[in-house]
Amino acid sequence: KQLTGNEIRELFISYFRTQGHMVEPSAPLVPIDDDSLLWINSGVATLKKYFDGRVIPDNPKIVNAQKAIRTNDIENVGFTARHHTFFEMLGNFSIGDYFKEGAIRYAWDFLTSSDWIGFDEDLLYVTIHPEDEDAYNIWRDVIGLSPERIIRIEGNFWDIGEGPCGPNSEIFYDRGPEFEFDTPAEEMYPGGENERYLEIWNLVFSEFNHNKDGSYTPLPKKNIDTGMGLERMASITQEVPTNFDTDLFTPILSRIEKISGKKYGQNENTDVAFKVISDHIRTVSFAVADGALPSNEGRGYVLRRLIRRAVRFSKELDIERAFMYELADPVAEVMHGFYPNVTERLSFIRDVIQKEEERFLATLDEGIQIYEQVREKAKSGEGVISGHDAFRLYDTYGFPYELTKEYAGNDGLEVDEEGFIEEMKQQRERARNARKSGESMQVQSETLAGLTEQSEFTGYDSLREAGRLLY
Ligand code: ATP
Ligand code: MG
Ligand code: MG
Ligand code: MG
Repeated sequence: KQLTGNEIRELFISYFRTQGHMVEPSAPLVPIDDDSLLWINSGVATLKKYFDGRVIPDNPKIVNAQKAIRTNDIENVGFTARHHTFFEMLGNFSIGDYFKEGAIRYAWDFLTSSDWIGFDEDLLYVTIHPEDEDAYNIWRDVIGLSPERIIRIEGNFWDIGEGPCGPNSEIFYDRGPEFEFDTPAEEMYPGGENERYLEIWNLVFSEFNHNKDGSYTPLPKKNIDTGMGLERMASITQEVPTNFDTDLFTPILSRIEKISGKKYGQNENTDVAFKVISDHIRTVSFAVADGALPSNEGRGYVLRRLIRRAVRFSKELDIERAFMYELADPVAEVMHGFYPNVTERLSFIRDVIQKEEERFLATLDEGIQIYEQVREKAKSGEGVISGHDAFRLYDTYGFPYELTKEYAGNDGLEVDEEGFIEEMKQQRERARNARKSGESMQVQSETLAGLTEQSEFTGYDSLREAGRLLY
């Protein structure tokens, strides 16, 4: 079935309504009353109050379409078909009502019934936790899935820090051998790092609570928490190679084409730029609509980095002016049916982004002048830009390291990368010493911690890791 993103969202909600679920609205991306998360990063994140028993829902069966931000996937964005920093998760939830069998039956019915999505059953695979015999038996005996399509995976235990957690079962869609590319054979299975078996839906069987002190206790009632990626589903129903080729993104890509005069789909490198920019503008537009603003710390810092990163990538498309703010228009257009607040706050969103872009462009101009001084110094020396100078450019002038390296390359110079990483480490040490306790914001992953706040860096294993933080 050729379904638009909006149709999939609607179908999902109406399916679970038909099955007696109540609809919970999409909550703002900025968590309310929850300092354990920087951003809402999944459908369940906004429903913790029901899961931990603080609030009793009117109906224990819930369905939602929840916007989510995940900065820990940023390195994948533009390089995989399926990752975004902003995406929508469709979820059904049971607060002590149905458990594994109910969740599995619903998921299978929704995906395979011709009244709903109507996927070919033979293209679906599932993964389970190695010790979850209940899940195995349900998939095999209730659903009738052949055993070789049920794969046991160690990592199938869902835990986002504080909150409900438990074993999970994921559903994969086989997009066919043409998506194997040159993936190593050992990754070529549902759950491996590949583009053939696309993970579409995660069913979490919540049995425990992960407490603030790190301990786990059984939940008074067992719960179901599921999350399906809307953009991924759209890429399958629309039979396109990546999420970016769906109707959720094409209006944004066309606008970038207009602005840059370049075509999407003609060159691998420029396509990455198209994808990164179209991804980041959605994140920034929605985050600003939900009350976040660019700044030097926490959430604001994430937005600042996303905007700068997109501006950096725009150089690949030879865009030399502030332009991101104009892309908020197609974002609002595509999404206004379900998310009217982006349209309502559009002129504010545009202003915020434009100011931030212009500021960064000015920073780059200043950085180039400093770079030129550094260049002369290196030229009259041994042809190497010192780690100290590269760091000063970055830290004092906000000039991305990647740029220093690129410019140096063009000027036939080298950059002392190890020295640079060393300077970054030292700065991190200083920041850490300056902090008193600093454990206030427990974030989902180290990567997110790194991206979030300079003072939270936990060290660099590689320059790639360091480089990611420099945009
Ligand atoms: P992956 O392994 O592909 O990174 P995940 O296992 O980290 O995905 P979950 O945490 O299980 O993802 O989230 C539930 C669903 O949300 C996924 O099955 C997927 O469809 C979707 N999803 C997760 N992360 C992203 C993302 N960064 N961009 C788009 N969709 C996502
Ligand atoms: Mg992931
Ligand atoms: Mg996964
Ligand atoms: Mg998953």
